[in-house]
Amino acid sequence: MAATSSPPRAPQRVGRFELERVIGRGSQATVWLAHDPRLARDVALKLMTPQAGSNLGDWLAEARHVAALNHPHIVAVFEADVQGSGADAQPYLVFEYISGASLDRHLLARGPFAPREAVEWLLGVLDALAQAHAAGLVHRDIKPSNLLIDAAGRARVTDFGIAVRSGVAAVAVGTPRYAAPETLRGAVPTTAVDVFALGLLLAELMLGHPLVDDTEVPAVRKRIVETDLALPAQMPQPVDDALRGVIQRALARDPVRRYADAAELRDALRLWLTPAADARTSGDGGSSKTKAGALDFLLRRMRHKTDFPALSDSVARIQRVAASENESLSSLAGEILKDVALTHKLLRLVNTAHYSQAGGSISTVSRAVALMGFAGVRNLALSLVLVEHMNDKLHAQQIKQEFLRALLAGTLAEELCPGSMSQPGAVEEAFLGAMFRNLGRLLAEFYFPEEAEQVRRLVHPGVVPARDNPKVPVPEARASQSVLGLSYEELGLGVARHWGLPETLQRCMQGAGGVAPAQPPQALAERLRWVATAANDMADTLLQHEPEEGARRLAEVGARYARVLGVPAPDVLGAVARSRVRLTELASGLEIVLRPGAPAERLMAPRDAARAPTSAVGGTGHAAADAPDTISDVALGPSGCESTLVLAVAKGRDRAAAADPAGVLAAGIQDITNSMVEDVKLGEVLRMILETIYRALGFRRVLFCLRDAKSGALIGRFMLGEGDDSLRAAFRVGTRPVPGAPADLFSAVCIKGADTLIGDATTASMRARLPAWYTASVDAPAFLLLPLLVKGAPVGLIYADKAEAGAIVLSEKELSLLRTLRNQAVMAFRQASGG
Ligand code: ADP
Ligand code: MG
Repeated sequence: MAATSSPPRAPQRVGRFELERVIGRGSQATVWLAHDPRLARDVALKLMTPQAGSNLGDWLAEARHVAALNHPHIVAVFEADVQGSGADAQPYLVFEYISGASLDRHLLARGPFAPREAVEWLLGVLDALAQAHAAGLVHRDIKPSNLLIDAAGRARVTDFGIAVRSGVAAVAVGTPRYAAPETLRGAVPTTAVDVFALGLLLAELMLGHPLVDDTEVPAVRKRIVETDLALPAQMPQPVDDALRGVIQRALARDPVRRYADAAELRDALRLWLTPAADARTSGDGGSSKTKAGALDFLLRRMRHKTDFPALSDSVARIQRVAASENESLSSLAGEILKDVALTHKLLRLVNTAHYSQAGGSISTVSRAVALMGFAGVRNLALSLVLVEHMNDKLHAQQIKQEFLRALLAGTLAEELCPGSMSQPGAVEEAFLGAMFRNLGRLLAEFYFPEEAEQVRRLVHPGVVPARDNPKVPVPEARASQSVLGLSYEELGLGVARHWGLPETLQRCMQGAGGVAPAQPPQALAERLRWVATAANDMADTLLQHEPEEGARRLAEVGARYARVLGVPAPDVLGAVARSRVRLTELASGLEIVLRPGAPAERLMAPRDAARAPTSAVGGTGHAAADAPDTISDVALGPSGCESTLVLAVAKGRDRAAAADPAGVLAAGIQDITNSMVEDVKLGEVLRMILETIYRALGFRRVLFCLRDAKSGALIGRFMLGEGDDSLRAAFRVGTRPVPGAPADLFSAVCIKGADTLIGDATTASMRARLPAWYTASVDAPAFLLLPLLVKGAPVGLIYADKAEAGAIVLSEKELSLLRTLRNQAVMAFRQASGG
């Protein structure tokens, strides 16, 4: 068979570039190895397929995207031009020529990478994409064939052909095998799309073949959209759990749960690369600069979790109220009340045996504040905010355990404060300081479970045997430092600063170092610090040992701290016993149930020591079994009320009110009755009334108007719920008939003393009756008016509204309880004015 040699051809040219051979072919372009005679170098020339009406814009976009980036791991673009003209016009791009193979071919030839090698190799790519992401660009087509390996063995990213600005809608192209689930569902691409592809890439490097290896496109799509991808248990080389965790997070189906961009993934992998090395060697724990960086990184990761911003916000709000001196108790109650779940839990807690010694059952936050004092409620609220936010994960034994440990340390610190510590707030400070000392560990457990697990393994190498475990236990501070880049204590403090927690508290959160002094320190702050340290040490002792061993060690630890605490050793143990009883009550109040045999049981009071749990009130009663007699199309007010004013349409009971509105109303009435006997201030009673209404019926906002002596008008005075102070200030109800002008709805209701429910305030006839100040700034579609009359004269008005027409539905029972509350307000008025 004779070889047919093709006749020699003159080199084909594109522009000044001499084409040598095809080195790659894609759907839109052919890539040539070409020579640039002017600069005497080889280049890669990407020639777009001639296409009628082909999109020159896209082609230029690729060139511009790459030109905007300048990174050693991104293939540089030299030129962009067009060959020919008209229908034959062929745009082309000229790139730096990369002599090595693309990663797909490279992988085939050399086989899988070892984990460390894979991560190190990928760091360059991640850094390149971090730059692109920082510039707002999403690559969208990360896959092995778009990663080239240069002569130095470095990875080079290429093919920004379909890259777009982050968050800009784009046609879903790219290879389904490396597409993120949201891309397949047609979502707007974000940097998280590249993170997903990078996670697959890392998996592929270690596997030697694609992780999603189905051959048919529909199977690929199904797998990506419907399953949680993870590394197979069997890998060519063992992969530790920490690295598996990172990959799993990069591959999270929900983009919100993924690392947000390449920089985050890169930083996580960098941390993975370093810890094991310095866990056993580094003593000083890193420079302050790298620590600041680590804190920043962790804060950034936490902020990407949906609930961390909300948690920060709750803490900051409670803190802000607590910090400003002129803010009153009522604003604290107001902040707490904005959060239904928090209110519920707080009330349950204050009704546990420990707090309810203060006097019977407590069903309103206002009363809790009045009885327990500001700092007491703030403490509870702050700790509850933590539970609240961790609630969905409280089923996780580990978090439960850490939370209970923290809570025990807090209650113990409180018990350990000697009576001589008379400074106001010292006891509360001790509670919070000891509890929040655990903040870093708690947050890590919650937000970075993989890392927390890694820390645990370093601390207890015997407990979870693993191949890559060091044999010697590493102290927790050092272990957390090596895994997270800063210790748990530093993480907790960093977040405390971020939240604006007070200095004194922050100081308390730092462990007292060294040997305990032989007597209590003079300075209160120092003393509190030792109290918090001792409390944590003892909680830890209980948790870490079997009960018998724990008791023995506890006696030792207690004796060690007795002198610095200024408390005799037996009393220290007494305090421990009391705080365990309290913890047991708190846990039941918080509905934290432990799995039998869980280590956290060691923290609780031994069975026989626990008091019977006290029943709680405040929205925890049983749901009313009887069907409510719902009013429908009837006037609430006395017969004199104009019929157009009142219309209540029963629409079922699907509102976000308390589970048992009547129960909450009744409990509130009881509470208010108790406090009126105790001669509480008028303002306080009114607030309790407002709060009871607000909580029971799930109103959007409730407001109390009181008569202004000068003008005679009813002016907004207290408000709960949505909206700021300007809303409250808008309320101004005239109570004197204006000659010649018909009274507006509010005035009419108040003058007549007619309880009125406006089920739908959006109708034209109704709107005509609403006062201008109302439509201008409040304007709710449904509201309730309960006027207060003393000796026939209007003195106040309770206003409550909801965000939807028809949403306020009241049973007869509820209505009568509401009226009782209103009458209590009238009584409080009478009492206050001495008549
Ligand atoms: P497409 O958009 O068609 O996928 P690419 O830019 O990914 O185009 O290039 C396709 C192939 O061409 C690559 O997989 C690679 O093998 C080769 N290639 C692309 N750019 C270069 C370059 N700068 N140097 C060497 N080879 C390249
Ligand atoms: Mg390509």
